[in-house]
Amino acid sequence: MRAAPRANAYRDTWAGDLDTSRAGTRARVAGWVHRRRDHGGLIFVDLRDRSGIVQLVFHPDQPEAFAAAERLRPEHVLSAEGEVVRREPENVNPNIATGEIEVQVATVAPLAEADTPPFPVDEDTPVDEMLRLRHRMIDLRRDSMREALILRDAVIRTMRETLAAEDFLEIETPILTRSTPEGARDFLVPNRREPGTWYALPQSPQLFKQLLMMSGYERYYQIARCFRDEDTRADRQAEFTQLDVEMGFVEEDDVIDVMERLMAKVFAVAGMEIPAPPWDRVPYAEAMARWGSDRPDRRFGLEIVDVGDALRGSDFKVFESVLGAGGVVRAINAGAQAMSRSELDGLNEVVQRHGGKAVAWATVEEDGSWRSPIAKFLGEERTRAAGELLGASPGDVLLFVADEAGVAAEALGGLRLELGRRFGLIPEDVHDVLWVVDFPMFERGEEGWTALHHPFTAPRGSFDDPGAMLSRAYDLVVDGNELGGGSIRINTPEVQREVFKVIGMSEEEADARFGFLLDALRYGAPPHGGIAFGIDRIVALLAGRESIRDVIAFPKTASGQDPLTGAPAQIDERQLRELGLRLR
Ligand code: ASP
Repeated sequence: MRAAPRANAYRDTWAGDLDTSRAGTRARVAGWVHRRRDHGGLIFVDLRDRSGIVQLVFHPDQPEAFAAAERLRPEHVLSAEGEVVRREPENVNPNIATGEIEVQVATVAPLAEADTPPFPVDEDTPVDEMLRLRHRMIDLRRDSMREALILRDAVIRTMRETLAAEDFLEIETPILTRSTPEGARDFLVPNRREPGTWYALPQSPQLFKQLLMMSGYERYYQIARCFRDEDTRADRQAEFTQLDVEMGFVEEDDVIDVMERLMAKVFAVAGMEIPAPPWDRVPYAEAMARWGSDRPDRRFGLEIVDVGDALRGSDFKVFESVLGAGGVVRAINAGAQAMSRSELDGLNEVVQRHGGKAVAWATVEEDGSWRSPIAKFLGEERTRAAGELLGASPGDVLLFVADEAGVAAEALGGLRLELGRRFGLIPEDVHDVLWVVDFPMFERGEEGWTALHHPFTAPRGSFDDPGAMLSRAYDLVVDGNELGGGSIRINTPEVQREVFKVIGMSEEEADARFGFLLDALRYGAPPHGGIAFGIDRIVALLAGRESIRDVIAFPKTASGQDPLTGAPAQIDERQLRELGLRLR
């Protein structure tokens, strides 16, 4: 129950709190004109405040109030006072909480007029997103935005309350700082006092939270704003909010245990029914092999099956050369789907979008044989063996990708999701939660090894073979979305230096950029680990919104613009001069 507002000249109750228990009493409410209707000599106004909507009725026998009501237009602001009365049964509106009563207005005080809004507030007609962002103060009045921001508040509050009860301290870390590598480009802020030097906005509080563990603040959290200057990727914001957590003297189980309890509460706040923890922990290699993704959506089947051994040794050159070169042949049984030849061929384009080259197909005949351009090369024995692995029955469509293991996994993972969507296989009311663990520590990029999570993650294995090293990282995945990730960290300077070395950082560079961390690791650094969750993404998932922009009060467009304020904007000559900058 919401606390009532302090009674003042404008109101003595929230509009949305009025119900039949108040019938026969006087109430004063304030808000915006949501709708106004003239009805046979009566004027009805739906008055909206943050709590909801209440119907005001203006009678001609209150001539002053009635005259004022005649001038009211959508989004005018007013305060009104009158008697709360029960509606006639035929006028009850079951769609709103206050639908059994109305306020018969005796006096009204117009507080502000409003121009005609650029789009209606009172209905969810689709409105162009640029227009919504340009007039965000109007857009935020709409129900859908209000619900999303109220849910966001509930999520963040649940996080704070749960963590406080678990003895975590909320500690702020700097926004003006030095670059921390989370793999993206930094936003830079010029330093006026010493032109040529720059602050970076934090990509995450990673190093500060580790330093806090070394300082003995064994349980830290922060609702942290992070900044990453990435090229436009769908549904990312350059600044975003994460729940950032770090704990001292912990192993994976300790972090995962608290976070499972926390996240179960967060899901419950939104009424999302998820399996009770503990949640499955799936090794990265298994996730890639079975679902072709490190954030698998396991709500539907179409699992990937390795059919390389079954098909080996055939006359089909493509498969043979891939297998000969150490690659794989993997397949999906798409089930009994009526797909035309051109639809099947069209799947090539899907796997190409996911980095693959082509997909081969077969449909299973009544007698178990395959109808497929490649069947005759494979031979009956092999197709029968592969069919068995795939659980093939007559009518099933089988889809094959042959490639290097990583490429085949990605391609089939993309294909699997596309087919799941296309065939309507993904249930909306069933949820799947899991941890992905045992990630590779390093991945091979164009310029050598990079850390898959970040270079402060504790590795497992030998530095003699970086490609085989695993990391002590874990990601939380819900319905195919990665909601958060973290790791146990390195806590000795020696291991930290080794990792820097593998990713191609010289001793000098390591000292120049991370000397403070390497130093700190020499003064008593306990084992520690943590995690961060993307709050925008979590709220979007819980609110069932397509875009994280719909759960952020003032987001930017995909290209980083804020149509409301016009940011980013030019600065004037004097500001540039003060900063010692000249534009090229
Ligand atoms: N700093 C990491 C991130 O922002 C999370 C973590 O390792 O705690 O993704």
